[in-house]
Amino acid sequence: MNQNNGYKRVVIKIGSSSLTHEETGNQDFIKIEHLVRQLCDLQNRGIDVCLVSSGAIAVGRKALNLKERPSTTSTKQACAAVGQSRLMMTYQKFFGEYNHIAGQILLTKNTMINPVSRNNAKNTFDELFNMGVVPIVNENDTVSTYEMKFGDNDTLSALVASLIDADLLILLSDIDGLYTDDPHSNPDAELIKEVSEINSDILSMAKGSTGSDVGTGGMATKLMAAKVATESGADMIIANASDISVISDIFNGDYLGTKFVRKKNPNFNLANFIIESIG
Ligand code: GLU
Repeated sequence: MNQNNGYKRVVIKIGSSSLTHEETGNQDFIKIEHLVRQLCDLQNRGIDVCLVSSGAIAVGRKALNLKERPSTTSTKQACAAVGQSRLMMTYQKFFGEYNHIAGQILLTKNTMINPVSRNNAKNTFDELFNMGVVPIVNENDTVSTYEMKFGDNDTLSALVASLIDADLLILLSDIDGLYTDDPHSNPDAELIKEVSEINSDILSMAKGSTGSDVGTGGMATKLMAAKVATESGADMIIANASDISVISDIFNGDYLGTKFVRKKNPNFNLANFIIESIG
């Protein structure tokens, strides 16, 4: 087997429900610490690592003691302002403990569509990788109103993978991968290990399979992310965040999850995709 399963640059996406305790909504420090340890070790193996982390709104809501999930844009943005910086504090602390460095990149849809700002963002990523820094990305929720939003971090992470020419995107989810049917309602549903083409059969399997009430992405958004990633030249793997060790398993070549095999499309254009598919 190739070293590191052949991968050199990875984007890993983790959602709010995987970073917080279900019962209380507080940050799950053990999980976050384990995630950071895995990422630092990937860097030690010589891999460029980028993390796309949700959690700004969920962590902010908790810090501000809001009983209900925020519904208005301004409340969500206020939560994000508080939560994003809190979350980064946690990440910085854990990365610091392993003597690794993290940096924050907050993106909006406009950053990706505008060729000047997109190029600037790409240069920043490249510089961070040269310096051995782990970029931690989120949508800039404090300023991204509806017209400017990517909507969900599954899509955002695929766009980032495309921008930085990653060869792998890992979506850590609350499910093992893509099943032939909804495994919550059908005990005979089987996990699909590998998808080489996102055809209508595959699309029909994308039923609402996320059980969480803190995140946003379901299986349909994951398939959209798979299309972006694979056409940009990256494999995409959906795996379960319940065992964070799955990250090193993937690089050792023996893991539980669904892999979408890359199929680079030379005509894939990031800005056009965003304008046509996200609006
Ligand atoms: N950007 C949002 C947050 O950090 C999450 C979006 C998502 O999970 O898809 O709260």
